[in-house]
This record gives sequence, C-alpha cells and structure tokens, in this order.
Amino acid sequence: MSLSIRWRLTIWIAVALLLALTVTFLTLRFSLDSILSSDLDDDLSRDVGQVSAQAAIAGSLEDADLQQIVDLASFIVVVRRPDGSVLSATPGVDPGVLAPDATEREQVLGGAVLDRTLDVRGEETRVRTARLSIGRQVVGIVQVGESAEAVGRVMDVLQIVFLGVGLGTAAVALAVGYWLARSALKPIDDVAGVAREIEASDLSRRIELGGKPTEVQRLADTFDAMLERLSAAFEQQRNFVMDVSHELRTPLTALRGRLDVLLMDDRLDADTRAQMERMSAEVGRLIRLTSNLLYLAHAEAGRGLVRRPVELDTLCLEVYRQAKDLRPEVKLRLGHEDQVTIQGDADLLKQLILNLVDNGLKYTPAGGEVVLSLYRDADNARVTVEDTGSGIAADQIPFVFDRLYRGTSSRARGSGGAGIGLSISRWIARAHGGDILVSSESGRGSVFTVVLPLKPDGPDAR
Ligand code: ADP
Repeated sequence: MSLSIRWRLTIWIAVALLLALTVTFLTLRFSLDSILSSDLDDDLSRDVGQVSAQAAIAGSLEDADLQQIVDLASFIVVVRRPDGSVLSATPGVDPGVLAPDATEREQVLGGAVLDRTLDVRGEETRVRTARLSIGRQVVGIVQVGESAEAVGRVMDVLQIVFLGVGLGTAAVALAVGYWLARSALKPIDDVAGVAREIEASDLSRRIELGGKPTEVQRLADTFDAMLERLSAAFEQQRNFVMDVSHELRTPLTALRGRLDVLLMDDRLDADTRAQMERMSAEVGRLIRLTSNLLYLAHAEAGRGLVRRPVELDTLCLEVYRQAKDLRPEVKLRLGHEDQVTIQGDADLLKQLILNLVDNGLKYTPAGGEVVLSLYRDADNARVTVEDTGSGIAADQIPFVFDRLYRGTSSRARGSGGAGIGLSISRWIARAHGGDILVSSESGRGSVFTVVLPLKPDGPDAR
C-alpha cells in the first residue's frame, strides 16, 4: 500500500511528538523516583539515629527506654538482640515479617546496612536494618520502616496523567499534522491542477502562480519554462508541416493539371491512357494527403473558418467526378441528392467528403460499390458515404477518428494510409458545428454520415 505524502507527514509528526512525550515521561519518572527515594532514605537514617541515640543515652540496650520510641514513633521500629530475638516492636507489627535471616544478620552485625521493600500491615514499606552500637560495642540490631506508598502513588498518578496527555497529544498531533501537511502541499496541488488543465492544443497557457512558497514557485517557473520550449517546438513543427505541404501541393496540382490535359488527346492508345489515368489518380491522392497535413496544421494552430455559402450538392458532384476513376474496379455512384446550401468553408468541406469517399474506395474490394448521398432535414444537411467494403470491427470503431490511428483493414490492405484522414474530417465537421457518425459491420461495409447544421450557430472547433 502506498500512502500519500500528506498522510506520511501526518504520521511522522504524530510519531515524533509521541516519542518526545515518552522521553519526557521516562525522564520525569526516574528523576521523581530518585528524589522521593532519597527523601525516604533520609527519613530512615534519621529513624535509626533516634533509636541509637536512645540506646546511647541509657548506656545499655536492655536499660534503654525503647518503649517510648516504639509507642510514639511515627515509623515502624523493631529492636533485636544480636542473636535476632525481639526486644521491642511497634504494636501491631509482626516482627517475623521483618526478620533478617542468619546471613543478613551476619552482614548487618558486620556493619552493613540492608534496605528492603516489604509488605507490612498491608502497606508497601521500606525497611532498613542496621546494627546498634554503644561506643565501640555492638549491642543489637534495629529495624525501622517508613511507608513507600506515597512514592508509588505519585508514580501511578504520573503514569495516568501522561497516558491521558499522550492520547490527547496523539489525537491533536494527527489533526494538526494533517492540517499542516495539507497546507504545506496545497501549493503543489494547485500547480498540478493548473498543469492538468493545460492541454497540448493550448500550450500558450502558463501556470503563473504568484505568492507561493519559494520551492513551489521554482517548480511552477520550471514548468512554465518547459511549456515555453514545448510551445516553441510545436509551433516550429506546425510551420514546417504547413510550409512543406504547401510547397508540395503546388507542383502536384500542376502535375495533375498537365496529366489531365494530356489525357484529352484522342490519339492516346488504350494502354497509355489507362496508365496515365492511374498516375493522375495517384497524384490526386498525394494532393489529398498534403491537403490533410495542411489542414491538420491549421487545426492545431486553432485557426477558425472562413464561412461562405456552399452548395453541398454541387460539392458532392465535384467529389464524384474527381473520385470516380480513383479505383475503376470499385463502382462509385451518386445516390439520393437533395439541394442544400450551408454556410461553410468549401475547400474544407470538399476535403472532408473526399476523405470519406477515398476511404470507401480504398477499403472496398473489387466489384464492390460506394454510394455518396446528400439529404436535407429540417435543421441539418446529411452527407452519407456507404460502402460494401471490409467494414470496421466493433472494438476499433471508437478509435477510427483518433489521429494517426490505422485499423487492421488499413494495415492488411497495405493501403499506405497515414491515419489522419478521419481525424481531420471530424475536425472539419465539428468546426462547422456538426459531427461525423459511423455505423459499420465487419465484412459487410460501413456508413459514414456527416451531419452539418443548416444554420451556422455551432462553435468553431479547435
Ligand atoms: P487511413 O489513412 O489509414 O485510411 P483514416 O483516418 O482515414 O486513416 O482512417 C482510420 C482507419 O479507419 C483506417 O486505417 C481504417 O482501418 C478505418 N477505416 C476508415 N474508413 C473505413 C472504411 N470505409 N471501411 C473500413 N475501414 C475504414
């Protein structure tokens, strides 16, 4: 699973805060523990001192007024003879619980001070065992105890407070962390949003975000600079295509003109005529291809249309005349022909119908037929090009209008198509506020229908 940067930052902030809190808690706990424990040790030393002083005053352990201490002391006292037997003990305290074993007794009589934490009368008690001396003589063992409950209670409270604060902090850290990460990353989202809106067809737009953090501004500026270079490269490429196709079209048109003049000569024998008609058809195809390239560059440059009245029926007749000999083995005929005039660009519309008819002829096997018809509805003119050719597989239909798309029929026939005819045709139809529809069945043929509104209120396509 990959987490977004926003969540990663949030989690890191929360973890860092919790870590800091844990370290603070542990430090505080150990410091408090050692302060409170050393206070307890001081109390125990003072208690031992009191009993020792009492014994010293009396001069002997047996004569000392131990009962006074045992009864009045706020702490637990057990006084033992050197053999461990109890001389005196705080009432209610079972001296057996505190009794040192033989080894411990040995150590204590030798001068060691033993500290243990025991449960005395149901309370956690710190018990100190030390020897009692009068002068240089060891006279017994004293055991004093102070409650250690307070230390435990402080630690418990500390733990609860920190747990509560920890959970609260974690929640706040998550919320604040998420907000921080969001506001830190928002400028980047903004840049991505604007970048997404910039399409290849409109490279003139720039991100131009002002007042953003330096890093993001740098990203936006880099992006803008890249767009600048891209736009310049596209412009250059477009101009090149326009120049080349323009330069090619002029001599090609002249070539076809000469061929057509030569074809008028009656003295030509049948074979030469057939060859020359083929040449004329091929030159015509080259002219169409260069025209498509030129219009493609126009479309990419976002040029609009020059609208004039165009008689579509005349245009269809021109296309028919121009295309009928393109493939003599396929019959091209005019079907239904209404009279329709629309506002549009005659050159572009002719190119559109020629592209469709040319495709029909190209993708129809010998003996097949292509029918060009023109209908007039209440609001639209409809030009249909119907063929009995290879058809288009259902899964390819959504792509045939894509630029540079060539279907299996094109590749199988080795027709040499560039895959731009239909994309340009659609651009022309849409630029006139209309569209192209296709219905086709593999192996049975296709029908391309161009719908063009009679009233030019549609937007010019880009
Ligand atoms: P091309 O130069 O390859 O003909 P087009 O843009 O004109 O490019 O057409 C795109 C693809 O659509 C073609 O390669 C072909 O597969 C398919 N196509 C177009 N018209 C027809 C048709 N009348 N019959 C069958 N397939 C067609």
